[in-house]
Amino acid sequence: MIKVAVNGYGTIGKRVADAVAAQPDMEVIGVSKTSVSAEAYVAGKRGYPLYIADLSKKPEFDKAGIKVAGDVEAMLKAADIVVDATPGGVGAKNRTLYEKLGKKAIFQGGEGHEVAGFSFNAHANYREALGKQFARVVSCNTTGLVRLIHALDQAFGVDRVRAVMVRRGADPGDVKRGPVDAIVLNPATIPSHHGPDLQTVLPHINIVTLAMIVPTTFMHMHTIQMDLKRETTRDEVMAVFEKHSRIGIVRKATGIKSNAQLREYTQDLGRPRTDLWENGVFEESVSVLDGKEFYCFQAIHQEADVIPENIDCIRALMGTVKDPEESIRMTDRALGLVAIG
Ligand code: NAD
Repeated sequence: MIKVAVNGYGTIGKRVADAVAAQPDMEVIGVSKTSVSAEAYVAGKRGYPLYIADLSKKPEFDKAGIKVAGDVEAMLKAADIVVDATPGGVGAKNRTLYEKLGKKAIFQGGEGHEVAGFSFNAHANYREALGKQFARVVSCNTTGLVRLIHALDQAFGVDRVRAVMVRRGADPGDVKRGPVDAIVLNPATIPSHHGPDLQTVLPHINIVTLAMIVPTTFMHMHTIQMDLKRETTRDEVMAVFEKHSRIGIVRKATGIKSNAQLREYTQDLGRPRTDLWENGVFEESVSVLDGKEFYCFQAIHQEADVIPENIDCIRALMGTVKDPEESIRMTDRALGLVAIG
């Protein structure tokens, strides 16, 4: 069993911990928090040993009735690998500690590429990650773009990509962020950072991205246009998507045309926390014009799509499973990933 520590038990960390606990070949040896919170209670109820960044705060946890197993350094010493899910920028500081203890570590998309020196996506570059000490799982938007673009690049070749990201304003529990009543250009300059971020995984892709933020909390919506190298048909493109385990099809027959309806659907499917781990490509939107011009809309659940990627990244860095397809199958089966369409 691979011993996994989750440093930062927040939106991403708590999902990674549950996904690790569901795998047959790994276990959660600890999770960490900085202060007493609802998530700290949940960690206890889930049976994850809770470690804290600053031991001087232990009396606050004691008073709240939350058991503390030790400090973060003690957690790391007991682990084979750490998934760092602390807020963006904190991971870069933690890297020194991981280096000092000689631990493997996975960083998240809030960190720059240079923090790990290697940016990961299971379908695109699993084999290159085998045995590395550090990797970064790219952000939710970049993960969604990489999956789709890589799949079409493998099948038909991609000449260029132009994509617009309509981003959620905050995560559902994040009461301090917005906007409440505005559409915010993010940034007003073009391109947004998503294109260059995608190139940390797929450096050869010609891509320009634009982004804006809207008042919603559940999912981003991408509009993607791509010029393909080889002529193809809509049916051939759909066949590529149908075969891809992390590209989900939002069927026309469901009548779903929004993030809100898709959330209801994932909830009804019994997904934990309504999580949509795969891209949600809207079947009706998939179009191929003049043989080479591809278009689609896809929904990306910001809290969820990076979770299976973190699990595959653990196996890749540990080198325990050499074949990406095998790891992806193991991860998806353990999560109970039921195809959305
Ligand atoms: P979050 O704020 O929900 O959770 C971060 C957790 O880290 C909190 O529980 C906090 O208590 C803990 N923490 C803070 N400082 C710490 C420290 N020094 N040591 C240990 N724990 C500490 O953040 P999040 O949304 O889960 O984001 C984590 C990372 O994942 C970021 O890099 C972010 O960019 C990336 N990410 C977030 C999303 C998203 O939509 N939320 C999607 C993809 C990637």
